[in-house]
Amino acid sequence: MTRLVDRCPLCDASPSRNASAALNLSVCPQCGLGFRTPQPTDQELELIYREAYSDEEVAAGSETMAGTTDSIATQYAGQLSRLEPLSGRRVVDYGAGLGSMSRALSQAGAAVIAVDPFSARELRKQGIDAHDTLRALPGEELYDGCTAIEVFEHLRAPWETMAEIRSVLRPGGFLLITTPNIQGLKPRLALDSWSEAVDQAHLFLFSPKSLELALDEAGYSRWKRLRGPVKFSSGGAANAARAVLQITGLDGQLRYIAWS
Ligand SMILES: [Zn+2]
Repeated sequence: MTRLVDRCPLCDASPSRNASAALNLSVCPQCGLGFRTPQPTDQELELIYREAYSDEEVAAGSETMAGTTDSIATQYAGQLSRLEPLSGRRVVDYGAGLGSMSRALSQAGAAVIAVDPFSARELRKQGIDAHDTLRALPGEELYDGCTAIEVFEHLRAPWETMAEIRSVLRPGGFLLITTPNIQGLKPRLALDSWSEAVDQAHLFLFSPKSLELALDEAGYSRWKRLRGPVKFSSGGAANAARAVLQITGLDGQLRYIAWS
């Protein structure tokens, strides 16, 4: 079923500005959340994911879907460990994908439990403790933290999943989030050609305000935007330019840590 969304699904503001008719993307005038109108159907999404997460792609460690390389994941783990020591901590890697963040957390000394419906089977073959869903996690245990790297933009109701994650965190446990930033420089200049917006599997594109609203809605008590530089795979000049944007908050990505 195609779902038409004419009010902001997060803050209920109306009417929402149709920011790009070509991409079926609306932007909330109040909280800045970008969302598909209409949302793709389950069948349409399944097609996109089946292609990106075929067994061959996952086994080959293809980066077509998961752009998070081991090098990037190691930088995230490094930034995280400056705020939350990881050694000996029990951390869920939600939406683990091809496992780069799980490996980086392990290397930093954390006991990692990966969650991903598409890749759990393959991750288990690699020796990672992996489960299909949060509900499939063993026992009633609470975790010290969770990471969700480039995940929430894919979900039907990200704020509900944030709340579900919070329910498995101990009091004061952390959630590390990375997700595209719709208020970055690129989408401000040319939304229609911004790759994160072109990707129809991205159902929501957050602004800082809408991400903070979602965290608040999900019951997190506090949060902090991380602005330290992260080097992606492109060349030195591109990384230098990106570092400036990261510091000013205009880069293409939101990185947040929230506490339950
Ligand atoms: Zn809104």
